[in-house]
Amino acid sequence: MRELSLYVHIPFCVQKCRYCDFLSYQASVQEKEEYVKLLMQEIVLQAPLYRQHQVISVFFGGGTPSVLDGEIIEKILCKLKETFVFESNPEITIEVNPGTITEEKLKIFFAAGVNRLSIGLQSANDEELRCLGRIHDYKTFLETYEWARKAGFQNINIDLMSAIPGQSEQSYRETLMKVLALQPEHISAYSLILEEGTWFYDHQKELVFPTEEEDRAFYELTGQMLSDKGYHRYEISNYAKEGYECLHNKVYWKRGDYLGLGLGAASMVEEVRWNNKRTMEEYKEAVQNNKILQRTDLGENIEYLTQEEQMEEFMFLGLRLTEGVRKSDFKQKFGIPMETVYGEVLEKMQQEGLLVVEESVYLTAYGMDVSNYVMAQFLLN
Ligand code: SF4
Repeated sequence: MRELSLYVHIPFCVQKCRYCDFLSYQASVQEKEEYVKLLMQEIVLQAPLYRQHQVISVFFGGGTPSVLDGEIIEKILCKLKETFVFESNPEITIEVNPGTITEEKLKIFFAAGVNRLSIGLQSANDEELRCLGRIHDYKTFLETYEWARKAGFQNINIDLMSAIPGQSEQSYRETLMKVLALQPEHISAYSLILEEGTWFYDHQKELVFPTEEEDRAFYELTGQMLSDKGYHRYEISNYAKEGYECLHNKVYWKRGDYLGLGLGAASMVEEVRWNNKRTMEEYKEAVQNNKILQRTDLGENIEYLTQEEQMEEFMFLGLRLTEGVRKSDFKQKFGIPMETVYGEVLEKMQQEGLLVVEESVYLTAYGMDVSNYVMAQFLLN
């Protein structure tokens, strides 16, 4: 059976963070209830199309899935398990944000089968949290973390952010120290990116963002402090203790099959990629008229990936992982040796000290620093 990962989008947040361009907004209790009904309908419509697949992971993302009641998440998860074929021990993650969670809710998640939590902390500095427009302070996060451990979670990710306006190397170091003292199993550490349409984008002239050199220093500090404490970098921005890499995210980087459920959710199954409708009206219309059964009606931007596009993605997504890509996997998938397509690029990148080329091809430490440049070399047109 082919493996499948499920992504479930919950597009609600208490308030919009200033840097956020995700599909998320504030909603009333009634709007949330209506959405969950549609989502359950979509699950029932989609599941029969994936009888030949076995679900290996589920990821509740958003938005803030933890704004929903514990019983609702439990109900969604039950419906997924009832309708899809699951492997015996799937990874089931939910994103939670401090300020939207109680100890009771975490216990319900855990009892329902959620076995991984991803907590959005971003910074341990309250001033930086306010600047980001987060609804919580560090104390609220700590409470959430303690409740999570008490509820039984043994696999916790903490999301961190660097390059926050006004952030100094010292304050970032303190954030890292505080987080490391808690010993989560996994840490994701991203740099803030200024996205169009966000509050930060519109107010950028009033803000002082760290310089590129400072950002690089944050990045190096992350790598150094985390590796000193036994975290292994397995992807450009992701670190884990032995045995705790995020299976679900690795499916994206390794280009496995994933089905997105809910508003605007992205899917890629057997080299076909599509997105669910991004407005509630259109999504509702698609679900209620069973258009979900025909991907072309349900989706927008449906894409049948060409062999060249598949090769490009295989390389630049796979190279995000520190283990890199295996030449034998490339040959098996595309029927031709990697060198036939990328011989010159591999040689050039190797000469520039950016890639190691053996049976596996992977980025050097320097290559990781300038990964965008390296990835761009693998575009074929
Ligand atoms: S909590 Fe996450 S999804 Fe919601 S607004 Fe903030 S960054 Fe965006």
